[in-house]
Amino acid sequence: MTIPERLQPFTTPIKVLDDGHVQLIDVMGDDLAIIDAARVSFFGHSSEHTDAQNRGLLRYLMRGRHTTPFEMCEIKLRVRVPMDAWRQWIRHRTANVNESSTRYAPAIDSAQKATEWRSQSKDNKQGSAGTVTEWPEGFEVPGYFEEVLREKLIAGTPAEYLSEREGRTQEVVREVYEERLAFGVAKEQARKDLPLSTYTEAYWKMDLHNLFHFLSLRLDPHAQWEIRQYAEAIAEIVKVWVPWAWEAFVDYRLEGMFLSRQEVSGLKCLLAHMGGAKQIFYNEDLSADQTEELRDQLDLAMKDPDYSVITNFEVKSRALGPYERDEMVDIAVNGSELPPKKKGKKAPRETGGFMKKLERLIPKDLIKLTKDEDEES
Ligand SMILES: Cc1cc2nc3c(=O)[nH]c(=O)nc-3n(C[C@H](O)[C@H](O)[C@H](O)COP(=O)(O)OP(=O)(O)OC[C@H]3O[C@@H](n4cnc5c(N)ncnc54)[C@H](O)[C@@H]3O)c2cc1C
Repeated sequence: MTIPERLQPFTTPIKVLDDGHVQLIDVMGDDLAIIDAARVSFFGHSSEHTDAQNRGLLRYLMRGRHTTPFEMCEIKLRVRVPMDAWRQWIRHRTANVNESSTRYAPAIDSAQKATEWRSQSKDNKQGSAGTVTEWPEGFEVPGYFEEVLREKLIAGTPAEYLSEREGRTQEVVREVYEERLAFGVAKEQARKDLPLSTYTEAYWKMDLHNLFHFLSLRLDPHAQWEIRQYAEAIAEIVKVWVPWAWEAFVDYRLEGMFLSRQEVSGLKCLLAHMGGAKQIFYNEDLSADQTEELRDQLDLAMKDPDYSVITNFEVKSRALGPYERDEMVDIAVNGSELPPKKKGKKAPRETGGFMKKLERLIPKDLIKLTKDEDEES
């Protein structure tokens, strides 16, 4: 396979984190390969159609989740990743992988260093929020640090202290590892105490359908920051490799939104109740078919001819007062058969998620549905 000219820049590794990278090794297929695979159903070919028709078909495939044509494209990367991010990465089972072996060869002498220390999120047990700025109560720098350094550390910031600790830990562990090798300990055992920050390298090959799945999960703000940096580097390549497919992916998957039956019902109630909002308009390019599809998706509340439909739900309405807002929340929640929100209690899980989605749909300055504001009013 030959890498097309436009993708040549990615054959030079894209730097990720402090010593990681993503490097393009090979690709197969492009936007037209996806379209040709789909057109074979009718013995057709992309060359018999205009760009607009081909692009339209590709968007239709993504919108309708006709996934197999996207599997006609493949990408092969060489990646250098810290073990902790790799452990998440390798969970994607549809890839073909060959990884460097620390049984055959000494482990890479490089470990990722944190650029900042993120705090444990209070409302997401898996996530982080903000950075560490406070010393733990009653904390003392361990006595085995030399006096001068101890004083320097305690005068510095918690982040500087944590980084100092990280550097020293990585140094000591590497030293112990190399000592074991010098003793003649087998590499497969000598490696057992290496930190998860140690870099590993792998060849990683995946088809585009599964790559989009990987990217949708790993570009998401819920994904760990470190693996997100890799997903962003891969996304840079994909944008240039298959621009139409990327555009459709962004529109229908990455920045699209799935709503549950209850959420659709809540949204319908909400829109139907917005007396001041007869005009829901769109500023995106939707064809008549797409508009109709969206209309169907949101179902009959939108069939009212007074509503002119939509894409990004920019709702033209007067700003709502706290009373109207609360009423709407009640209708959205109770009217959609979700468990009612009890006063002073946390919103039920699904309701909380629904509120977040609504906030993404409707500009905050028009309708404020945040929990804090609910409680204030
Ligand atoms: C934010 C986040 C948090 C996570 N937290 C955890 C956690 O706490 N603990 C944990 O263990 N994991 C966790 N994971 C990993 C997650 O559960 C998945 O293992 C990982 O994201 C891979 O997703 P996948 O299985 O859909 O993708 P892939 O393995 O890439 O598969 C793609 C798709 O192929 C299909 N497929 C692949 N293999 C099979 C199969 N054998 N049988 C049937 N269908 C198959 C499925 O439809 C699948 O969605 C987390 C992931 C994310 C993004």
